[in-house]
Amino acid sequence: MSETGEEFDLLAIETLKSRYLQEGEKDWEDVCKRVAKAIALNRGEYTEFLDIILSKAFIPSSPTLMNAGTPSGQLSACFVIPVEDGIEKIFDSVKTAALIQKTGGGTGFNFSKIRPDGSVTVSGVGTASGPVALMRLFNEATEIVKHFGKRRGANMGILDISHNDIISFIRAKRTEGVLSNFNISVMLTDSFMSLADEGRMDEVWNTETGTKIGEIFSEIVEGIWRNGEPGVLFYDHINRDNFTPALGDISATNPCGEEPLLPFESCNLGSINLSILVEEGKVNRDSLREAVRKAVRFLDNEIDVNVYPVPEIEKATKKTRKIGLGVMGFHDMLLKLGLPYDSEEALRLAEKLMGQINRAAIRESEKLAAEKGPFPEYENSIWEFPVRNATLTAIAPTGTISILAGCSAGIEPVFSWVYRRARIAGKEFMLVHPLFETHFKQKLSKPDYNRLLEHVYAHGTLQDITDSKIVSEEEKGLFRSALDINWKTHIDIQAAFQRHCHAGISKTINMPVDAGKEDIGKALIYAWKQGLKGLTIYRTGSRQHVVLNLKKR
Ligand code: UDP
Repeated sequence: MSETGEEFDLLAIETLKSRYLQEGEKDWEDVCKRVAKAIALNRGEYTEFLDIILSKAFIPSSPTLMNAGTPSGQLSACFVIPVEDGIEKIFDSVKTAALIQKTGGGTGFNFSKIRPDGSVTVSGVGTASGPVALMRLFNEATEIVKHFGKRRGANMGILDISHNDIISFIRAKRTEGVLSNFNISVMLTDSFMSLADEGRMDEVWNTETGTKIGEIFSEIVEGIWRNGEPGVLFYDHINRDNFTPALGDISATNPCGEEPLLPFESCNLGSINLSILVEEGKVNRDSLREAVRKAVRFLDNEIDVNVYPVPEIEKATKKTRKIGLGVMGFHDMLLKLGLPYDSEEALRLAEKLMGQINRAAIRESEKLAAEKGPFPEYENSIWEFPVRNATLTAIAPTGTISILAGCSAGIEPVFSWVYRRARIAGKEFMLVHPLFETHFKQKLSKPDYNRLLEHVYAHGTLQDITDSKIVSEEEKGLFRSALDINWKTHIDIQAAFQRHCHAGISKTINMPVDAGKEDIGKALIYAWKQGLKGLTIYRTGSRQHVVLNLKKR
């Protein structure tokens, strides 16, 4: 019997039907067969690929599930498109982004080459409108292309901390609904962060504009406190892991931040389901290694069978052959092992697991290099032995594929044990986390169990339940959800995974509604010191639509 609750199965089926089934397909198995057939180069691979996807031990990201074996054939989720200063080039970038988004891929841009608002244009006639105004152009293009694609187009807009328009960029999303197809991130450097950390807030950062360190830092903090925007990226940490520095610096990531890429590179993502690796209270390390081995081959094959939106992307991608193998179901794994998310053991496990995955992935890439040759830019890279892929690991949000797998998303803690899921295909679902359900249904009488559900639904937590017969102290430790967990722990877990991950990690650092601005400032500094490549903080209820939902409730 499946471990997921009935409602979870129902949600997976509805998601599958509404987004992934092609004409003539009726279930998950049909999707897996189409995908495995499109990616496998021979019968042996077909059987291996079918096995890992069908069993949900590994699931490739949405564009692959949607497009493999179809006329579109575009398999990648992540792209970075350069934006040069000049009308013609800018519209070329908009066009490339539109072609990518039509197929379900997400695009990231660094707008720092665009001259600041008000400066004189190249022709000397009129003034430049600056990066923020330009982002609206990209945003509108996404808005229109949305209607042609199966999934919402997503953009990441980035601006370097030394750009003259940095303050207006940080404020660009302050009004709810503006630039709704963008996540925005400030690209921070070590030198800026060191000065902020030393409290040298009165020092001038930008001599042209006279803007001080403190002004910029507090604008970022203010924006995050208000509605979670902007996110931040740490340039030096990203480029510390640039395996091909001869090809240039990395200045942008895909929309959710897990893939820092060079201009025109694309990357195929896929995630291993950690939850199903727990057998009799232990992690099955052999199954993990097997899944990694097959997944690396799968993702590497994708690079050759992929249909690229424009020739520049094919060229850049095939030079480095980056793949993004990640994980999902980490919190479910911890629950099955009886370990609280905020425990020393969880941190140690995160580190150990990701270390194993990274090593196994490198080993497989080494074998692939021996069979098929290393990535073409290998000689220009910092790798000391030949591998087939310049980078191998990245942790994606797994927003949809974790629903298909019926496990917790990425490395996130479960957001809530009981919640209502907005309508999908005309149905509304009341969801109880399957492991929570199994645990408390066994222990409690039916009326007590129902009272517990009502309490958790209304309060969003079980930490405030005083009756120890309903919830013991130990259970309170185990069943802590995203908001019961301190921001520091969120960052520590992200850092533990990051230490063994080539690319980046998509994760939200949740803070309670009453978190202060000083907490946000501290979190930014702490995350930088822990070596993260980027950070997204979200203070509960700080976005309008969330507030409305709460009121309605
Ligand atoms: N993405 C996108 N539009 C979306 C969701 C995701 O373009 O609506 C892209 C984006 O680059 C993101 C990546 O897909 O970083 C992976 O997202 P996720 O893991 O949530 O995708 P899934 O495979 O679960 O659908």
